[in-house]
Amino acid sequence: MPPTPRNFNIWYSYFSGDAPDLNRALDRMIEIGRPLTAEVMEELHGKFFSLDHEQKVVLDAGVQIQSALLQLLDLLKSCGADTDRYGNALHQFGAGLETHGLEQLRALVDAIAAETAVMAERNRKLQNQLVSSSTQMEELRRNLDIVRRESVTDSLTGLYNRRRFDVSLDEAAARATQIGRPFCLLMTDIDHFKKFNDAHGHTIGDHVLALVARTVKECTRATDTAVRYGGEEFAVILPDVRMADAVKVAEQIRKSVASKKLVNRSKNVTLGTITLSIGVSQFTRGEPLAELIKRADTALYEAKQTGRNRVVAKDSG
Ligand code: GH3
Ligand code: MG
Ligand code: MG
Repeated sequence: MPPTPRNFNIWYSYFSGDAPDLNRALDRMIEIGRPLTAEVMEELHGKFFSLDHEQKVVLDAGVQIQSALLQLLDLLKSCGADTDRYGNALHQFGAGLETHGLEQLRALVDAIAAETAVMAERNRKLQNQLVSSSTQMEELRRNLDIVRRESVTDSLTGLYNRRRFDVSLDEAAARATQIGRPFCLLMTDIDHFKKFNDAHGHTIGDHVLALVARTVKECTRATDTAVRYGGEEFAVILPDVRMADAVKVAEQIRKSVASKKLVNRSKNVTLGTITLSIGVSQFTRGEPLAELIKRADTALYEAKQTGRNRVVAKDSG
């Protein structure tokens, strides 16, 4: 394994045992003999360490915003003092107007004009400073948005990741519980994908994963949450959908993937087709979410056992 900082980070953590979930995940992979490829290590790193990176970005942004605000506050304070000074000066000139002759009056007007020019210059500076601060803050906000989006996105497929899955599933359950709407879960796994990788290589396998992800996205609505759940496993949360309609969506995904003839364009070689097995479950009010996931998993397992390239639904009854 290449001695990259990421890999070091992962194995250091593994040997120190400070992230039990990471150890469990690695032990499991070792147990089933899953090759620890660069992609796998990246996935692990994303899952167990990316939060540190995010927190750092958020923390940095916080510090920058604070210092920008402090600068502005200083400027506003000095601007307030200048305005006071300007007011006092005008007041004095006013008192002078009553007692002096024409020549002195002209001198007073000149002085007022000079004082006003200074004030206008300060206001212009303040305005520039405000514009630059707000540009800076806008940029920080954009950066934070990007980090926030990246933290819930799978980089290979562009679908959401597990972190977003957990949040969306909680939201769907809360909504279903509060307003009594149904929702369903699809668990999808590519059939014999190890064989496909063995035959055509991991890189082409990755292209196929992206293609499957696109197909899943095309077959679902904007309000659904399509997730890369694991290596070659995808999950979809379908709010406001009953089992019968969820099965229809699953069938559409299954057929759409199976109908695609894969071609390696750079070598002009046909790679055949791939198929998916899909398990479907519907949320039962009050049940733990682990139960809902387990039912979809059981259905998926049954789809595999009964020949693959099929959809199996399991309700709680
Ligand atoms: P089954 O029909 O029972 O699901 O067979 P399978 O070979 O698809 O199932 P298994 O879970 O045993 O193997 C999954 C394979 O998926 C192992 C690995 O080669 C492949 N895989 C997992 N993640 C990735 C990835 O990120 N990229 C690529 N190219 N392949 C992956
Ligand atoms: Mg699998
Ligand atoms: Mg599989």
